[in-house]
Amino acid sequence: MSDVHLSIREIFELVEAVLLANGCDAPNAAAVARTVSSAERDGAVSHGMFRVPGYVVALRNGRVRGDAEPDVQQPTRAFVRVDAKHGFAPLALERGIPELARAAHELGIAVMTVIDSFHFAALWPEVEALADEGLAGIACVNYASVMAPHGGSRAIFGTNPLAYAWPRNDKAPVVADMATSAMARGELMLAKRAGRSVPPGNGLGPDGEASTDPAAILSGVQLPFGGHKGSAIALMVELLAASATGDRFSDEVVEDVSDGGPPPGGEILIALSPKLLGGERTQERTEAFLDRLSSIPGVRLPGSQRHRERLDDGPRVLDAALVDKLRGLL
Ligand code: NDP
Repeated sequence: MSDVHLSIREIFELVEAVLLANGCDAPNAAAVARTVSSAERDGAVSHGMFRVPGYVVALRNGRVRGDAEPDVQQPTRAFVRVDAKHGFAPLALERGIPELARAAHELGIAVMTVIDSFHFAALWPEVEALADEGLAGIACVNYASVMAPHGGSRAIFGTNPLAYAWPRNDKAPVVADMATSAMARGELMLAKRAGRSVPPGNGLGPDGEASTDPAAILSGVQLPFGGHKGSAIALMVELLAASATGDRFSDEVVEDVSDGGPPPGGEILIALSPKLLGGERTQERTEAFLDRLSSIPGVRLPGSQRHRERLDDGPRVLDAALVDKLRGLL
């Protein structure tokens, strides 16, 4: 496998050009390219350039509207609803988050739902955008059903990620962002591409038997992390991202997502103002707690690895075959 070196700017420009050439309008292409290039910048490779062929396939076969103009409404003072109009999630999120932040600063807590969108990315961009505004954020999104609940061997959940961010004084925020499956699907796909097996406990093959072969798991079912506990959190994500948004449960996604593109669905974002809720001294107390936590030998804060990667403003090393594939989509 040979490598190619591209700057973050070059990654952004390549992704934007590929999307423009395949049916995205300028605002959607730029929003998705920001999401993809920031994933590469932070070393979150499974949601970087690797995803672009999937975005393109969904544009080409008409599953997703590349020129969708999100509609932002505020049904109550604490509730922002963004109808993504069958478009990719990044533009819908960029349009709605400023309104959500305004509401949370005023009221202490506010919620935003995104409906009829196609989320194919990590969740940290949206919760980190809230932390950049001095707010804490929680986000959940569901997915087409690819994961069995604890005790079962039939898929009903998506890999249902959950993320939160907490703002810090003059430091990168605490940001945790994780699939509720034992392994994110993108990581399984990368393992399949690299011909690697995965540790036991990640999934079952199509025959319902435990497997360490990523190809067998991708055509069988994934499993939640942490047994019944992860399964309960995956259920919470379904309730928040589908019940509370009015969008689809993972097992109601009837679209064929075997084209490798994103599934349709809903997302929920909850924003809290630590200052309004916890009082003036809350940040000082939080900083002291986080310092005590990270002073324990062997402990690091979630998000710190990604933020460390971000400090490197040099070129990123990419798989040459993937970059060639993207250039072939121009
Ligand atoms: P990881 O297991 O890689 O990481 C989960 C979180 O744990 C990260 O915030 C990470 O921080 C933190 N972390 C990792 N190691 C440590 C450690 N030693 N100490 C403290 N914190 C640590 O994530 P997943 O593989 O589960 O998920 C990958 C991505 O996939 C997520 O971004 C998720 O949103 C995305 N996803 C998207 C879906 C979609 O439908 N759109 C579906 C499922 C997943 P750090 O970043 O600093 O390492």
